[in-house]
Amino acid sequence: MSPIRISILGAGAMGSLFGGLMAEAGHAVELIDVNPAQIAAVREHGLLIRNDAGKRRVAIPIKRPEEATRQPDWLIVFTKAMHTQGALAAARHLIGPQTRLLSLQNGLGNAEKLMAFADASRIAIGMTTVPADLVAPGEVHSHGESKTRVVMADGSENAALAALAAALDAAGLPCTVDPDAVVAIWEKVAFNVALNSLCAVTQRTVGGLGAAAEGRRLAHAVASETLAVAQAEGLAVLAERTHATIDHALDHHGGHKPSMLQDLLAKRPTEIETLNGAIVRAAERHGIAVPRTETLYALVKLAEHAA
Ligand code: NAD
Repeated sequence: MSPIRISILGAGAMGSLFGGLMAEAGHAVELIDVNPAQIAAVREHGLLIRNDAGKRRVAIPIKRPEEATRQPDWLIVFTKAMHTQGALAAARHLIGPQTRLLSLQNGLGNAEKLMAFADASRIAIGMTTVPADLVAPGEVHSHGESKTRVVMADGSENAALAALAAALDAAGLPCTVDPDAVVAIWEKVAFNVALNSLCAVTQRTVGGLGAAAEGRRLAHAVASETLAVAQAEGLAVLAERTHATIDHALDHHGGHKPSMLQDLLAKRPTEIETLNGAIVRAAERHGIAVPRTETLYALVKLAEHAA
């Protein structure tokens, strides 16, 4: 497998993990970020990765956008959704005529944001169940099984995407090109709209939410609203599969604080716009009522303002 030139835009938890594992597998990876603490730690000590394969350090270049000059084969966007446009604008010079873009960010609207910077024929999107935590600057943890599904934004078959998926797979990040990746994106959005906003508003962990019958009922009811919107969009989402994933998380991810709760506690903006916000707007287009999602959207916005 010939090495792929990959730049990761947003080298936090996910960017560090994907970038680190791809670098370890022999690909030419460059991390791009704006966080001084992360940049200093990776420059000084390399990236410390801890996952099921063990703990090790990976030497990997990390740059601010304005320091980077290489136009990669793939630019993988791993900022939080609200930073995508600003990050891409500052990294516009890295998008050459051959550069392809991939977003594995949560939420809706990622492809549309990337399309302001490259033709749809060079954009891929996807859904990943890989979990990652940046436990300290330069130190990323992940564990457990995962699956990543990717597809070109225009639905076309693409040899470069197939090669990237195979490379991710070989690097320990199981990945397939899947024409139904958009269905997977929406099912994960249903999951995140429910659990992220409910945990954020109630300041409870996923297990805390699952401990009360009311919490479980509400989580499923909120997810059902997103699934109804997805069906109106013509997507073959599977309600049973989504509700089973939610039950699994409520039962087994006890101590987990979803990123939206972590962001609110740290007084940072959240990804509410690309989750509940996007569902409220899509529901409006279809004339569907999503009262719980809308209420949670307003409550998280209120909490963001208060913070
Ligand atoms: P994170 O906050 O850990 O990392 C985001 C990084 O982007 C930070 O290092 C930040 O400094 C950087 N950034 C911000 N503005 C930038 C700019 N202008 N230029 C360059 N870099 C910039 O977030 P994360 O947890 O890695 O999540 C990234 C995305 O992946 C989100 O959409 C999230 O929902 C999604 N996701 C996360 C997980 C997870 O387990 N962490 C799992 C699946 C999907």
